[in-house]
Amino acid sequence: MKKLLSIAIAVIMLCACAPTAFAESGVMTKRIEFNNPGFIRGMDISSVISLEKSGVRFYTKNGQEDIFKILSDNGVNYIRVRVWNDPYDSEGNGYGGGNNDLNAACEIGRRAAERNMKLLVDFHYSDFWADPGKQKAPKAWQGISLNDKKTALYNFTYNSLREIKSAGADIGMVQIGNETTGGICGEYNRANMAELFKSGSKAVRDFDSHILAAIHFTNPERTDSIKSLADYLAEYQVDYDVFATSYYPYWHGSLENLTDVLDYAAEKYDKYAMVAETSYANTLEDTDGHGNTVAKGNNDSGKNLLWDFSCQGQSDAVAAVMNAVNKVKNKKGLGVFYWEGAWISVGDVTGLDESGYNDRYKLNSELWEKFGSGWASSYSSDYDPDDAGHWYGGSAVDNQAFFDAKGMVLPSLDVFRLINKTVKIGDVKRDGRLNISDATLIRKYLAKISDLDSESLRAADTDRDGIVTVKDAAVIQKNLADIPVGHKIGSEE
Ligand code: CA
Repeated sequence: MKKLLSIAIAVIMLCACAPTAFAESGVMTKRIEFNNPGFIRGMDISSVISLEKSGVRFYTKNGQEDIFKILSDNGVNYIRVRVWNDPYDSEGNGYGGGNNDLNAACEIGRRAAERNMKLLVDFHYSDFWADPGKQKAPKAWQGISLNDKKTALYNFTYNSLREIKSAGADIGMVQIGNETTGGICGEYNRANMAELFKSGSKAVRDFDSHILAAIHFTNPERTDSIKSLADYLAEYQVDYDVFATSYYPYWHGSLENLTDVLDYAAEKYDKYAMVAETSYANTLEDTDGHGNTVAKGNNDSGKNLLWDFSCQGQSDAVAAVMNAVNKVKNKKGLGVFYWEGAWISVGDVTGLDESGYNDRYKLNSELWEKFGSGWASSYSSDYDPDDAGHWYGGSAVDNQAFFDAKGMVLPSLDVFRLINKTVKIGDVKRDGRLNISDATLIRKYLAKISDLDSESLRAADTDRDGIVTVKDAAVIQKNLADIPVGHKIGSEE
């Protein structure tokens, strides 16, 4: 994802963009019967500690709440966190991107466990972003022999897991590297890469044999190429459990192809298959003054972008990616992690005039620098001069979060809870009974007198066509009057 961030040029948008208006009502979510009862509905919120330090708070209609509670209440069952070895310059200034060191992983892991969510520890084995274009070894490991690097990687993995567990985290899975399609930790030769994968995997096995070991690649749209990576891991006898890929609909091919790629690793090598990162924008507006990866005229079109840039579209995209993974053969589809679903603005610039915008942008920049709450700070320039050192700034994905610029939860988050939950068709009021008040609620919703949340919307879709119309109210009324109408209410669907 890092590469995508760097593409996002820090456009200072002086136009007074219209405030982003989200529907207050819920989103419609169709249910999926998961083949794997423990299907992961995960979220990466690695930047959240830095955001909180920058003053960001998260809200539901009940007021301010802990984000881990909000996510758990809304069906997220797994948290992913990246770990950088030493994301600081020689003066101790953070490189940004959440300043995700071991301490941050301990805190995120502990808070996730308090809300009964497991943790996926995503080791980059770098001091900053590792991705297909860049796999730089940590400063402390540069120039050492492969054998020494293997030992260092083993020890770092084992000792980090011990600390994260001691902090109270429930570690369920570990990634041996991040987006390691063409390299890992400064090694780009496949034989050397395999040695490091094995070293990390052995550390995970030695620490706790119940923890799943994952290898994470990218670009599933290069179908033959990513399949050959599964062959390569087998050829070099790398011991792992989960074949993972990133899947961003903007770049990574069709959903059918995604399933096909994951099927290959699942069927041929008996591995679990997973999407380790995905996301989808709910708007094309920016809210923090740092241009977004997906914006008007930028990554906003393509034949695999099947959904609107709205909360409904974001919800539908998540459901579709989960569906594609769920289809993986032999019940090997393990789940999906959404990438940085809470990386919102540290200060909303929406609708400000020029001087107001400039003042807020200056304050945002200071927060990004001080707390690492932007994708990169200027301090990263000594480690990553060409990319982060040049393009550093704020969040490039604030329009892909499940919270608005003020931290209010969006209805699209409901997809994580409702994706495999049944609701009683027709019971719009959700009081367990079917009566005329359910039809009345639909009519009030259609007349924009009152809203329906996502669960009531599903219950209101009595003819199961995916939208709520006046016909649905009529279906309820006819059922109550024992008039045959073709759609029975009262079933759990
Ligand atoms: Ca932004």
